[in-house]
Amino acid sequence: MNKKPVILLNIDSLMSKPLEVAVQTGRAPALAFLKEKGIYLSDVVSSFPTMSVTIDSSLLTGTYADEHHIPGLNWFDTTKKEVVNYGTGFRETWRLGTRRSIHNMLYRLNHEHLSPNVSTIHEDLANQGIPSASINSFVYRGNTAQKLKVPKLLTTLTYFQDGEWIAEAPQTFSLGAFSRIKPWNFTAKIAAGNYKYVSRELRHLIRKDKLPAFTFCIYQDLDLRIHYKGPMDLKGISRIDKQIQKIFNLYSSWDEALERNIWLVMGDNGHAPMHVDTKKALIDLRKTFNKYQISKLERPIHRKDQLVFCVNQRMAYIYVLDQRITMTTLVERLKKDNRIDVIAWKEEEWIRVESGVKPGSLHYRRSEEMKDEFGQTWKVRGELELLDLKLNKDGTLTYNDFPDALARLYGVLNSQSGRFIVVNSKPGHEFKSQLTPTHLGGAAHGSLHKQESNVPMIIAGTAEKPIYPRIVDLKEFIMRIVS
Ligand SMILES: [Zn+2]
Repeated sequence: MNKKPVILLNIDSLMSKPLEVAVQTGRAPALAFLKEKGIYLSDVVSSFPTMSVTIDSSLLTGTYADEHHIPGLNWFDTTKKEVVNYGTGFRETWRLGTRRSIHNMLYRLNHEHLSPNVSTIHEDLANQGIPSASINSFVYRGNTAQKLKVPKLLTTLTYFQDGEWIAEAPQTFSLGAFSRIKPWNFTAKIAAGNYKYVSRELRHLIRKDKLPAFTFCIYQDLDLRIHYKGPMDLKGISRIDKQIQKIFNLYSSWDEALERNIWLVMGDNGHAPMHVDTKKALIDLRKTFNKYQISKLERPIHRKDQLVFCVNQRMAYIYVLDQRITMTTLVERLKKDNRIDVIAWKEEEWIRVESGVKPGSLHYRRSEEMKDEFGQTWKVRGELELLDLKLNKDGTLTYNDFPDALARLYGVLNSQSGRFIVVNSKPGHEFKSQLTPTHLGGAAHGSLHKQESNVPMIIAGTAEKPIYPRIVDLKEFIMRIVS
C-alpha cells in the first residue's frame, strides 16, 4: 500500500466563522496553512441531533440514526423501558457522569447500542487488512480486542470486575486514562483526554513511525469553552492550533507534513447563542405537560408513568407510554409554545411536521417522487415552509434553515421503536429536564437548525472530495482515499 496516511482531526464545536476569523487574524497559523493549501468547505451538514455521539456514529458508519441507532446523548429504550444516558454533558464535565452513564458511554454505546447491521470505518478497514487508530473518541468500535483499564480512582464508578474489560476497538486505540498509546501520557480530564493529551498521542505515533492508514482524533476542549463563552470564542481555536503546529514541527517543514499525509480538519456541530433570561430561554417540558404523570430520572420507569422526556440540549424526545394519550393532544399543547419551531412524529408510514411558529402541517415519506439536493427521493405534501424547503423550477428540493432536514428527521424518527415526538427549539432556547446542564448566556446545540448543523472542513493533501458536503458522506470519502 503506497497511499498517504489519513489523519482526521475532529475539533468538537469548531465553527466556520470563528475559524475564518482566527485564520485571517493570524491566531491559527497551522489551520491557515492547511486552509490555504487545501480545499475549504464552510457548510458541511452534521448529523441529528447535533450531539457528538450521534455525529461521530454518523461519521464512522456513513449512516443516520435510523441505521446506526445512536439517537442522542440521552434517549429512552422503549423495549427495555430504560433511559439511556451517555452522560449528558459528558464532554462538558465528566464529573456529571454517574456509574451508569460511564458504563453506557464507554461500553454499551459501542457493544450494545451501535447497530450490528452497520460497520465503522475501523471495521471495514480491518476487514481489508488495513490498520487504523482512534484517539479520544467515545465511538470507537473496531475488530481488535483491547483491554481497557479503569483507573483506581474511578473503579467505584464502573460495573467492571477489577476495573478491567475487553473492548472491540481499532488496532491503535487511545481513550483518556482507560487506554493510551504513549506510556505515562498524563490526562488532565481523567475520563477523556484533553487537547494536549490528544496531540501527544498523535505525535508519539508520528515519531515512532507508527501512523496507520487512518487516524481519527477528537479534540473536545473547545466545546466546553463555547458553551460558557459563546460561539465567537477564538482562544480555544488558538490553543488547539498551537498543538497542531507542534505536530507539524515533527517534520522537516510543514510542506513535508502535507506531502507525507492527508490532513482533514473539521468541526462536528455548531452552537446557537442562548438568551440570558431563564424564563425566556428554557423550555420546561414538565411545565408544558404538568397534567401528566412524568417519569423521574432517579427511579426506574413506573407503570403509571405516562410520558418520558429525554433532552439533548436544543432538541428533545417526548416518549408516550400511555396508549390512551393521542399524539395530536400532545402536539396541540406543544404548538402553543412559540419557542418550538419543529414538532415531528410518525403517523403510519408518514412523517408529520408541525410547529409552534408557523401554521399548517407537512407530511412526507420516502418515495421516488421528488429529489432533494443530496439525491435522496421523497414524497412531500403540505406546507414546505415548515421545514424551510424550497421546491425549484426543475422539481428538486433544496434546504435552507434546516439542512438535510428530511433525511435527518427521518433518521431520528426511525431510530427507535415506540411512540414518541421529536421537538426542536428556536435559536436562543433549549429544553430543560432534570439534572442536565443549561447554558444561559452561553451557547448550546442539539437542534436541526443550520447554526448547529453546518460545520467547516479543511481537506489538505488530496484533491478528492466527499460526494456531498455532509458528515454522513465522509465514510465513503475516507474509504476512497485510504484503501
Ligand atoms: Zn457541547
